[in-house]
Amino acid sequence: MNRRKFFSPAIRVALAWLLLAVSVLAESWYKGNLHTHSFWSDGREFPEMVAVWYRDRGYHFMAFTDHHVTQTGEKWANITTAEKAYGVIAACQKRFGPDSVITRQEGEKILAKLKTFPEVQKLVEEPGRFLLLQGEEITARYLNVPVHVNAINLYTPVAALKEKDTTTTLIANVKAALEALKQEKNQGIVVINHPNFHYALTAEDLAETDACFFEVYNAHPGSNNEGDSKHPDTEKMWDIASSLRLLKWKKPPLFGLATDDSHHYHEFAPNRANPGRAFVMVRARELTVPEIIAALQRGDFYASSGVILQEVRYEARERKLVVQVQPEKDTHYRIDFIGTTIDAEARPETVLAPESVPEEQSLQKAPGRFTGRYRPQIGHVFLSVKGTSATYTLTGKELYVRAVVTSDRPVPWLPPEEGIYQKAWTQPVGWPQANH
Ligand SMILES: [Zn+2]
Ligand SMILES: [Zn+2]
Repeated sequence: MNRRKFFSPAIRVALAWLLLAVSVLAESWYKGNLHTHSFWSDGREFPEMVAVWYRDRGYHFMAFTDHHVTQTGEKWANITTAEKAYGVIAACQKRFGPDSVITRQEGEKILAKLKTFPEVQKLVEEPGRFLLLQGEEITARYLNVPVHVNAINLYTPVAALKEKDTTTTLIANVKAALEALKQEKNQGIVVINHPNFHYALTAEDLAETDACFFEVYNAHPGSNNEGDSKHPDTEKMWDIASSLRLLKWKKPPLFGLATDDSHHYHEFAPNRANPGRAFVMVRARELTVPEIIAALQRGDFYASSGVILQEVRYEARERKLVVQVQPEKDTHYRIDFIGTTIDAEARPETVLAPESVPEEQSLQKAPGRFTGRYRPQIGHVFLSVKGTSATYTLTGKELYVRAVVTSDRPVPWLPPEEGIYQKAWTQPVGWPQANH
């Protein structure tokens, strides 16, 4: 009997629908950058050109997070001598047509009219292929300390707030961002940015706010992801903050993002904030804003500075965290399962900044703030495996576990002697259900 006769037309139609349904329900990995600047603030390029930079290189989504603003209303950007030298207007006209840039002269200055978010969307979005998100980098400060918070999927900008010290300033801005998202009835995420930028924030600050996300890796050259002798690196901060959240504040651990914080799109150098360095890979059913946001909120994503994973999966019933790398040629990997043991204490062994000194005084003496030193139960390596796949089965002694994959390839934008290797960071799993 031949196949055509075997399957009646009705069954064939049903099968076709089933296949379609399966393909729609199937999840895919989508690559995105959630921290991006344009001419709307201090990024040095038109938003539509920034978007196509990412689209052309296989990214699936990106969020605009300009300082203080969202892309609404009328705004004219001052095209500086540097940008004229790069030929930004001509490049944009070449890409989007001769009428795509409106300019006017004001004395010596050349001003160009910026496209709003819907206008940029119309130009560059492709359903199922490339998606834009609107956001704002709420750019607050306390004295000489920057306090930056990203609100993603926010349309009406939130004004930055200043409170009585850095911690309360951070808490207030996070709260304002969450409130604004609620007002807009948008599901969005609030991210604490680059905590070690000017060593502004401590792990204790990250623990205390209502934000569920922070940047474990921000590729801007001023981000100090690796810390220094007096400041832990951002990964250690992640463990301290997540442990304090679980033990002291009864909140879920933080999820960690990797972002470009891109500003410079022409000159590529270690000291420039260039695009294409750090990103998130989000597992979602389809490329839409609600699906991407929901996946981020579930923690169904990993952060990366170059390492790609084939699979990361937490099997909750068996309490197994499975990690599989998509290996590159001639590259070696180490997979570390890191977390905190349940007997950890939520208070530091030593505090570097004496609490008796008011912050106003201590910041004047030495800009920057200090995370306490904690016992080694926080940020403990439970298992370290060389190779491209590994599984960790939780034994009951873990407060939570996360995986970090480190490649023996240095990140391409820094001199190799700096010893910064490409990584992928998966999200914490296995914490007590009561904290969900
Ligand atoms: Zn910032
Ligand atoms: Zn930024």
